[in-house]
Amino acid sequence: QHLSKSEAEWLVETTVSNFARHYNSGFIEYRKSVAEAGDFAAVEWTGQGATFKDALGRKYIDCIGGFGLFNLGWAHPKVVRAVQAQLEKSPLPTQELLDPLRGMLAHLLAEITPGDIQYSFFVSSGTEAVEGAMKLAKLYTRKSGFIAAVRGFHGKTTGSLSLTGKAIFRRPAMPLHNNIFHVPYGDADAVEQQLNIAREVGNDIAAVVMEPVQGEAGAIVPPADFWPRLRQICDEYEVLLIADEVQTGMGRTGTLWGVEHWNVVPDIITSAKALGGGVMPIGAFMSTPKIWSVLNSNPFVHTTTTGGNPLACAAAIAAINVTLEEDMVEQAATKGEYFIARLREIAAHHSDIYTNITGKGLLIGQHFVDDDIGYAVSSGLFKRGVLVSGTLNNSRVIRIEPPLVITREEIDTILNRLEDTLQELHASISTPSQP
Ligand code: PMP
Repeated sequence: QHLSKSEAEWLVETTVSNFARHYNSGFIEYRKSVAEAGDFAAVEWTGQGATFKDALGRKYIDCIGGFGLFNLGWAHPKVVRAVQAQLEKSPLPTQELLDPLRGMLAHLLAEITPGDIQYSFFVSSGTEAVEGAMKLAKLYTRKSGFIAAVRGFHGKTTGSLSLTGKAIFRRPAMPLHNNIFHVPYGDADAVEQQLNIAREVGNDIAAVVMEPVQGEAGAIVPPADFWPRLRQICDEYEVLLIADEVQTGMGRTGTLWGVEHWNVVPDIITSAKALGGGVMPIGAFMSTPKIWSVLNSNPFVHTTTTGGNPLACAAAIAAINVTLEEDMVEQAATKGEYFIARLREIAAHHSDIYTNITGKGLLIGQHFVDDDIGYAVSSGLFKRGVLVSGTLNNSRVIRIEPPLVITREEIDTILNRLEDTLQELHASISTPSQP
């Protein structure tokens, strides 16, 4: 499929210019060269595990991982085969007949989610999972307000966008839902203060919605008592606690679900991204029998035609099996610990460049003194065959979120290339400019 010159220019304009700071100069050059070649199909990647070859034949180690999509690596053969087999039987849902795969997947999720979470509703994306979670909380509590976090990310449809705490994403869709309050992430006192104010004026808060570890904001890990206190405060004020596990779920942070780091059981959990094994789009919101009673008593209150279709469910069932059989959670925990420790050593040697290394498991953030330095580091890494991404439209924090199957050797290669990049950066900073 070839593009005309103007189409190629349009591709570069629309895909690159708006989010240039999110990526890096090498990435932009790459997209231009692909577009100039006029070969749209060439944008496809071919790869395995955590390594990719691009349209120009260059090899990369993937540290973006589809932002939590490719936990099992690219096109894990067991997931691909499950989807292929289902494609031959029945790809899309029959609606009238009970769909056994939805039931099987719901059953599996009930077994692997914390506490009394037993029911699931399947959708096709993270944002839909959050929309469903919000609606369930409203139906159950008969209240309409939410408390979420500054710089939190929950999606870009209008309900989830109302929770997303970043002005650049919210502005185009204003006015969004009202009665939504944003507090600093990790600050349980601030949540309690908001609930107190709400109580004084009639208590219309349905739920508190938080990411276990903030993903898009740059792998921000909350204080150790944040989640336990959230649970306690939500119980005290009789509001629901929603954990948005769209990015942190399925092993990413070194536990199957992020909240397990603190042994907290939320009332509602959302999942998507890696749930489909990096092969099919699928998302879910999940909750307890007690809360689910508002959906069971009125089955038509929330429906979607293709959410949880047989292909997506077959992928998710296979993805959960692979995650458990191949110890993905343990892999994320041990490799993440090693990666973070090594990055901290490097950052300590370059304290003029780094301000912090954050993260849990293989959801890692490198924090830089400013946006330009971060941009230069990500460009240098790209040039050396390592794909990384900035956060929320800037480069001050670079995320490292590789497939969980990344090898120890690949991690060492990334660290070596990072050190080369930093050395080059130092040389360019300390070279006096020409008079
Ligand atoms: N919630 C979280 C925590 C996310 O990280 C994302 C996506 N980055 C979403 C929701 C939205 O998911 P999707 O892009 O599939 O709509």
